[in-house]
Amino acid sequence: MLIGPPGSGKGTQARMLQEKHGFEVIRTGTYLREMAAGSGPESAALRAIMDNGDLAPPPMVTRMIINKLAETLKKAGKVVFDGSPRTLYEAELLYEAIERMKVKNAYVIYFGNLDQRETRERVSKRYFCDKCAKPYVSVSEKCPVCGGAMKRRRDDDPEAHENRWEEFDFRTRPVVSYFRRKKMVIDIDAKGTIEEVAARVEKAVAGIARSD
Ligand SMILES: [Zn+2]
Repeated sequence: MLIGPPGSGKGTQARMLQEKHGFEVIRTGTYLREMAAGSGPESAALRAIMDNGDLAPPPMVTRMIINKLAETLKKAGKVVFDGSPRTLYEAELLYEAIERMKVKNAYVIYFGNLDQRETRERVSKRYFCDKCAKPYVSVSEKCPVCGGAMKRRRDDDPEAHENRWEEFDFRTRPVVSYFRRKKMVIDIDAKGTIEEVAARVEKAVAGIARSD
């Protein structure tokens, strides 16, 4: 599980683990954004919550990620959660599911040592391809990989970003404490360049593999 404040680089590092180390990634934010983009009253309600930078309803998210975990573990042996669990409620249910499914080597990589000023600066420069979801920091008009349009995430707006930090402080920090008590947390210094952080994440993952 990758946990950190908004703009801490979790998504980018999840992608690195996927491309270099063969992990399947369960991206809660992406699934939720897909659902929010749908039609119907449920999608509209979810869209309103997320555009504001608020967290999606935990029972819905939890149901979704546990189903996804069972499904993904059947296909691939190694799974990374990018963006879950965000609340203590999700954490407790996910932990139960992990125990039930007898998943070994379950860890939380915590992206720490960041402040809001820093991440606001980071996300103000971030763009995503609308088609293949590849992240970019520069602004070209089209995605160099697939030609899709470049978009910013609505929840990267300064106001939503601040709100997401508040949600993180109040609702996600207890998750980190919860897993800390279970001795599952590996702390990563998330300051520095993408490459520097990637090297720290790789070291952590190599450590887990060695203890296997
Ligand atoms: Zn693309």
